Amino acid sequence: MIRAEEKPVILIVDDETANIEVLAKQLSADYRLLFTTDPAKVCQLAEQKDPDLILLDVVMPGMDGYEVCRNLQGRDSTRDIPVIFVTAMGEERYEAIGFEAGGVDYITKPIKPFLLRARVKTHVELKLQNDMLKQLASQDGLTGIANRRRLDEFLNHEWGRAIRQGNSNLAVIFIDVDYFKKYNDHYGHQAGDECLKQIAAALAAGMERKTDLVARYGGEEFACVLPNTSLQGAIHKAEQIQRSIASLHIPHQLSDVSDVVTLSMGVASLVPRKENKIETLINAADQMLYAAKRGGRNQVRYAGTVLSEALASAT
Ligand code: GH3
Ligand code: MG
Ligand code: MG
Repeated sequence: MIRAEEKPVILIVDDETANIEVLAKQLSADYRLLFTTDPAKVCQLAEQKDPDLILLDVVMPGMDGYEVCRNLQGRDSTRDIPVIFVTAMGEERYEAIGFEAGGVDYITKPIKPFLLRARVKTHVELKLQNDMLKQLASQDGLTGIANRRRLDEFLNHEWGRAIRQGNSNLAVIFIDVDYFKKYNDHYGHQAGDECLKQIAAALAAGMERKTDLVARYGGEEFACVLPNTSLQGAIHKAEQIQRSIASLHIPHQLSDVSDVVTLSMGVASLVPRKENKIETLINAADQMLYAAKRGGRNQVRYAGTVLSEALASAT
């Protein structure tokens, strides 16, 4: 995790506290350290604390380090945390098992302090660079909110989760700025960019739940994904968004519907089931956005009947 101005975090796992102390002594100046002697707790701890590196003992009672590493690799939330095995078993075949389990490096006891620090530093730096690249790859360059790529990933993920959860709604709001071409023509492209940034910031500020996502879909189009949200809830959110953009009072002299910048929005929500397709939800929101445009802009349209008809014809 990228933590500005803070020391990277390392989780040390060893069933013997004396071994933990040896490692901690070498690393405490440069890293924030977390410990556990219980291999069964590693996954949960890693998930909660999101460390930048794990130093993992191999031979432990109950569960060995290889198994812990495989478990970490098996979870989305912990897969990208690098694991360095620390063990007295220096034979090649043991090291091979460690790499196969998903470890990035292998350090043998007795610890050579300089080697330990050098290897830890290398892997922590790689991890932080990787985090930064991942963040950049999912972020929209102009507005700083999520981009289309992140939106697609998030939507697919939430769709799958809602299916697994059973009776759980997934809602989307498609948003398009009204008469934005005219805005650019009149105020200039630079002012257009500033306007998009202001809208994005207001949208992001309006996402009250941690589980909601707002993304820039493209050009002057945005989308919100609202897990566990009914159609009523999503309409309420869209209307809230409409008011928040109105209250920005961004002048738009050439708009046919208002003297400030406004949005058109299409809302849809459904309970995802295995037999449905995610496109049904997306198309419904898209159609409603189109309806909001045709209906005169600066308004929210929602998919009630359209969606139930689409679902009925798909089954
Ligand atoms: P409507 O009310 O039907 O949505 O009309 P519109 O003019 O908003 O829609 P249209 O799709 O015709 O034009 C969208 C405009 O958005 C065209 C383009 O100049 C502008 N645009 C797209 N991306 C950007 C951007 O990154 N910066 C700026 N300044 N303008 C952009
Ligand atoms: Mg558009
Ligand atoms: Mg537009």
